[in-house]
Amino acid sequence: MKVKSIIALCLFFCLGNSAFAQERYSILIKGGHVIDPKNQIDQVMDIAIAEGKIVKVDKHIEGEAVQVVNAEGLYVTPGLIDIHGHHFFGTEPNSYLRNSFTALPPDGFTFRTGVTTVVDAGSPGWRSFETYKNQTIAHSKTRVLVFLNIIGEGMRGGAYEQNMNDADPKMAALVARQNKEYIVGFKVAHFEGYDWTAVDRTVEAGNLANLPVMVDFGGAEPPLPLSELLLNHLRKGDIFTHCYTQLPGREFIVDTLTKKVKPFAWEAKKQGRYFDVGYGGASFAFSQAIPAIKEGFYPDGISTDLHTGSMNAAMKDMLNVMSKFLVMGMDLSKVIAVSTWQPAQVIKREELGNLSVGTEADIAILALKKGDFGFFDRVGYKITGKEKLECEMTIRAGEIVYDLNGIAYPIVVTK
Ligand SMILES: [Zn+2]
Repeated sequence: MKVKSIIALCLFFCLGNSAFAQERYSILIKGGHVIDPKNQIDQVMDIAIAEGKIVKVDKHIEGEAVQVVNAEGLYVTPGLIDIHGHHFFGTEPNSYLRNSFTALPPDGFTFRTGVTTVVDAGSPGWRSFETYKNQTIAHSKTRVLVFLNIIGEGMRGGAYEQNMNDADPKMAALVARQNKEYIVGFKVAHFEGYDWTAVDRTVEAGNLANLPVMVDFGGAEPPLPLSELLLNHLRKGDIFTHCYTQLPGREFIVDTLTKKVKPFAWEAKKQGRYFDVGYGGASFAFSQAIPAIKEGFYPDGISTDLHTGSMNAAMKDMLNVMSKFLVMGMDLSKVIAVSTWQPAQVIKREELGNLSVGTEADIAILALKKGDFGFFDRVGYKITGKEKLECEMTIRAGEIVYDLNGIAYPIVVTK
């Protein structure tokens, strides 16, 4: 009797222990080079996912998994965050980026480039946000966040975006407070005129809702001084987008004669203003970006400014823009940082852009392709490089949503 109960006890503990050792994960990513800037990881690691969350990051993870992903030779990063896009797709004619043919549905452009979160840069305003929620957010697997336009109509184009009677900080702040899950700040864009009304009303909304603002610094003749915008009108944590633009009607951050970053831009960075790429159709020039990057004036967010006018032009997609920064001399870990953890902090969503245990499993698996590649800007200025990023796999909330070459075993064909 005694011997039997000892054997039973032993069996209980042995089986019990082995059951603990054999965790069952939903996805196990093996052998990839993990770059997780928040947690200062830059080495080969395994990552285990269960119930939509990251449950373990370690050098060797054993255990069963429903799917095993072979990431050898690839980079495993947090899902990319594109903090400047236009996703208010719809069918209203002559409506620019609001409920229009010019804006694009996120899922068609995100997962195939490792992006799991987009921030719409001001396509809806407080009047059109409800339509945006039902039309874009409700129909996207991509996480969609929003900088709410200070103009109630949103980015309807033309005269609508000049109508200061529709720039209502109180209503914008109210709608932001009612939609905290989605609205991460406010946007002012395309305002033309030699005065500060549009910017100041946007900052007022920011103060009322305790959120940052993003500024597309319109255009004026003569241009409004950028130093005044950055140092006197914006606050710590506010964002200047299209930071490497060289368009008429605007002042630039790099002096075109000396090729040096202007001292006020460095001062603004020091004082906590953020700089966003917002590449777009016309808002990025190598003549600005190359000298700036050489001097170490890096962006806080690499972003696309995606719409029909940029997707097939020089911009193309998030990874093409990131590759340009690699070629200009930023190292890979820094390029990943300003496409993940840094923008997560800019939008005050620190649960995003990292691979900490317990976070929702949004992951990009990227290949750094070797070859001869060309990158050009809107004026046809071209640089060449030997490396280019390509997306192998995207995981959104613990589900494989894109698998270029079938590196998951077994392959599950998602729809
Ligand atoms: Zn934009």
